[in-house]
Amino acid sequence: LASRLPHVGTTIFTVMSALAQEVGAVNLGQGFPDFDCDPRLIQAVTAAMQAGHNQYPPMAGVPVLREGIARKVEAIYGHRYDPSREITVTAGATQAILTAILALVHPGDEVIVLEPCYDSYVPNIELAGGTVVRVPLTPGTFRPDFARIAAALTPRTRAILVNTPHNPSGTVWRADDLQRLYDLVADTDVWLISDEVYEHMVYDGQPHHSLATHPGLAARALIVSSFGKTYHVTGWKVGYVLAPAPLMAEFRKVHQFNVFTVNTPMQHGLAAYLADPAPYLGLSAFYQAKRDRFRAGLARTRFRLLPCEGTYFQCVDYSGLSVPERDLPEAAFCEWLTREVGVAAIPLSAFYGDGFDQHVVRFCFAKRDETLDAALARLARL
Ligand code: PMP
Ligand code: GLN
Repeated sequence: LASRLPHVGTTIFTVMSALAQEVGAVNLGQGFPDFDCDPRLIQAVTAAMQAGHNQYPPMAGVPVLREGIARKVEAIYGHRYDPSREITVTAGATQAILTAILALVHPGDEVIVLEPCYDSYVPNIELAGGTVVRVPLTPGTFRPDFARIAAALTPRTRAILVNTPHNPSGTVWRADDLQRLYDLVADTDVWLISDEVYEHMVYDGQPHHSLATHPGLAARALIVSSFGKTYHVTGWKVGYVLAPAPLMAEFRKVHQFNVFTVNTPMQHGLAAYLADPAPYLGLSAFYQAKRDRFRAGLARTRFRLLPCEGTYFQCVDYSGLSVPERDLPEAAFCEWLTREVGVAAIPLSAFYGDGFDQHVVRFCFAKRDETLDAALARLARL
């Protein structure tokens, strides 16, 4: 069988969660909460099922949810998307990103990714027949390096994939990053795919600068978000895409022939729950408390903390540990940490095409305080 993705194995998130489960480790690897969502959200979905919302919804998503998304986005980012033509509900961000890439990228087109990057981007571009152009984020700070992005632009560049707040580094783009991106693409035909799934997890009073806040960028961007992240329901797989009407028309052509629609009662339940802004407006404070607890604990270990401005991920450098395993490459270190110390993490090398190894691993702190404390007690021994 001639593989469409010959270099791809099983995603690191699946591998590390399976190992954590096998050996009974505290799982700070794959990003998902170990606590449940708001019971009102479950009631809203149950009520939708009982009200008979159980057949196919419209292809782009139930209107009441698209209207709710439009209101939310306008209220917080100041940009009005037309729910009928510019918003589509997706089966999570993963399907949204693949669909966006399939809709935009023609064989031979170049697509710029900023490494380290989320592991689905590169295989998605390859499936579309595109050429992946890897541009490193600034080593150490993981901030975008616009000189390098500019140097990577060619007449064949079709799109740039942006991710802020950034998985895995937790870096959050600033207002001037948006302007510098605009200055680069303003006179080009380059589209932007902006993965903003962690939009409601930004710390220390910083805002999330959505591409929707910048009219020049919004005019050429497909912006992706995920209710899984925002509402602690990663298993529900519901997200959405925002884009100007001509771009969205192309997105929907592909969307209708891969999932066609996303499940109906979840959409109605989410629409009802979305009417209350408190859950998403309070999310940053909720996770900042967890970040601070986790960082305070890690500061008492030999791990070196990297900054975390957003997302629910904390990266650490393990090269200063007292154990000989500090010299292992990241993947082997994570396996050892999971098996022998009982804490699962994700190697940063999984986010690089060439497996670049910097002795840094990623922990997820979307966990109950007891879970974080149990992990910290184990990590403190190293
Ligand atoms: N993009 C990034 C940066 C992510 O971290 C994730 C979640 N792991 C996704 C996309 C996929 O989101 P979803 O679960 O909604 O498909
Ligand atoms: N996005 C999550 C992470 O980065 C995991 C999602 C997945 O398992 N594909 O950990």
